[in-house]
Amino acid sequence: MNQKAVKKTKKPSSLVTLTAITGASSGIGQATAYKLAQAGHGLLLISRRRARLEAVRKQCLKLGSPQVEILPLDIQKFSEKTVVAFLQKKKIPIKNLINSAGLAKGTQLLQDANTSDWDRMIDTNVRGLLRITKVFLPYLIAQKGNIVNLGSVAGRLVYEGGAVYCATKFAVRAISEGLRMDLKGTGVRVINIEPGMVNTEFSLVRLGNQQKADAVYADMMPLGAEDIAESIFFCLSQPPHVNIQELVIYPTDQASVGQVVRGEKSIKNLSK
Ligand code: NAP
Repeated sequence: MNQKAVKKTKKPSSLVTLTAITGASSGIGQATAYKLAQAGHGLLLISRRRARLEAVRKQCLKLGSPQVEILPLDIQKFSEKTVVAFLQKKKIPIKNLINSAGLAKGTQLLQDANTSDWDRMIDTNVRGLLRITKVFLPYLIAQKGNIVNLGSVAGRLVYEGGAVYCATKFAVRAISEGLRMDLKGTGVRVINIEPGMVNTEFSLVRLGNQQKADAVYADMMPLGAEDIAESIFFCLSQPPHVNIQELVIYPTDQASVGQVVRGEKSIKNLSK
């Protein structure tokens, strides 16, 4: 295809709406950015690591995104004014918000836990998600857009050593349900995606050690970030009158929280 033809296929920037993705520098957020770039979405990529965001931006443009902006920030402590000023300066309609930034930290029992880990999980997964959503809401309402929250199966079932992480994901579920009620009649859809084990940087962040993180996924077949990106894309692709409110996605090797099959019964060996 010649250069002129390529230019013609790109939407003029006045018509571009953007999908904002928090946690776009890694894992599910990054895979979703790539999937949506291939589908022609304009993107606003948000997370702390600027260099990673720059690299994801480059790749999204290569994959077909007509416009990619980056906004490096820490959702635990960003200034709402700065984000609003950024959005006003760029004058870009925001159609979708994907709240993927989040983490688990530690697996200690409550009585042994480090309370700074609790603060980090609550400030990122709950306060951060709420505050960033509030900033974007006027734009999403104006566009009759979509909010996709990354909940978790940990938002449905609690496990030992996971009380606070689970509490944050129960909160994401409650926030998603409440938002859906509060936004009824605006045309904005709220979708809570609840994955089981996905092999990303999640376990490395939680356990702080690559060997321990690799052991989580040893001898079984977890989901990949791309699997979740596909599901997010599927939800966003539904006609406006259809809202997939919740999607629970486990790997076949994980029957429930803590119920993982490894070795010869793993789907990767059964398929041979
Ligand atoms: P990941 O690979 O570790 O990605 C997490 C993303 O969140 C990174 O881009 C990170 O970017 C961003 N982030 C973390 N803290 C942040 C902060 N304070 N400010 C801004 N960005 C921040 O993990 P993932 O698996 O993709 O996780 C994405 C979401 O899925 C999380 O909400 C997680 O709870 C949820 N989830 C994961 C799994 C799983 O098994 N992996 C299962 C269920 C649900 P920076 O470090 O650059 O800031």
